[in-house]
Amino acid sequence: MRPLLRDLPLDQFPDLLRSRGHAAYRGRQLAHWLFEQDAFTWDAMSNLPRAARDDLAAEFDVAGLSPLEKLVGSDGTRKYLFALRDGHTVESVIIPMEAHATFCISSQVGCAMACRFCATARGGLVRDLTRGEIVEQVQRLRRELAADPFPQHGDRQFNVVFMGMGEPLDNLPAVTGALDTFVAETGLAMSVRRIQISTSGPRHGLPQLGTLRHPVGLTISLGGADDAARRKVMPVSGRAGVDEVLAAAEAHAARSGRTVTIAWVLIADRTDDAAQAETLARRLAGRPFKVNLIPLNELDDDPLRSASNARVLAFQDVLRRAGVPATIRVSGGRDIAAACGQLRRRRLQRDAVALPEPPADTRGDESHQT
Ligand code: SF4
Repeated sequence: MRPLLRDLPLDQFPDLLRSRGHAAYRGRQLAHWLFEQDAFTWDAMSNLPRAARDDLAAEFDVAGLSPLEKLVGSDGTRKYLFALRDGHTVESVIIPMEAHATFCISSQVGCAMACRFCATARGGLVRDLTRGEIVEQVQRLRRELAADPFPQHGDRQFNVVFMGMGEPLDNLPAVTGALDTFVAETGLAMSVRRIQISTSGPRHGLPQLGTLRHPVGLTISLGGADDAARRKVMPVSGRAGVDEVLAAAEAHAARSGRTVTIAWVLIADRTDDAAQAETLARRLAGRPFKVNLIPLNELDDDPLRSASNARVLAFQDVLRRAGVPATIRVSGGRDIAAACGQLRRRRLQRDAVALPEPPADTRGDESHQT
């Protein structure tokens, strides 16, 4: 595949057209079309000379995604399946939250992390997304939101969370490049306060949190309050233990000045018992953490079931009594396959593309579900 223009670092734009014999200000025009106007075709860049567009088109693509499917849930959640240029697909979601929309985006096609509760895990990792493909997801969602804003929101502000397909710490060069584009004035000019990365805590990725150039928010999907429980839900070898993950998260909280969210997927008879709640409360109390309790978004073909309402409330009560902030978050779009990877998986099944089965000991549990 040819590179996308949005794969490039922003500081390369001033020279991009000058080095091809065009006036320097044309580079600024190009960046304006790409990042402020959300242009996805050469034709849209109407004030850029045809010769300049032709020169670039010989080397770069201007769009990496094309819309394939859109589902709208009863709660207003909009789920998109995009086709990539090589025929693979990724999911992105717009979720109406209290004050603003949240864009849930993907960092990889598939995922190597094998979390038992996650549809994305079933097909394994296919490939990393590029910086441009990550940026383009946000821009396509932004354009969708601008065309059809949520009436309850007074503006078109949005948050971005890396909670879709993929483990962001497994594709950090592209993710950090995309973050650069998100926050730069000549990029999407987003506030870093509106950006959140969610990770399942692969051991090799945790030290890289310290290299992030922007103080983004962090969500950790823990899966268990001790190492044995975590391994059952998130069985990939090389996954850091609970102490290690929480230490890395605490260091990120200190660096970024932001409370870290612990995402806890509540699975009946797996992660919803009082003993887990008490162990979790002991580990988190007095530290810069808050907990999002997420009843499992059940998969069609998996026996795992969501915790009952009573167990969810009891779990929350244990945390709160220990002084740990805990909020119950119901996944947006439960009626439209909004669990990470479900829409893509259904499409693959419909197209009769055989998905490899995961190893027998990795079937079943939770993840960064939104
Ligand atoms: S929950 Fe996240 S890290 Fe786990 S398998 Fe799914 S996409 Fe990967």
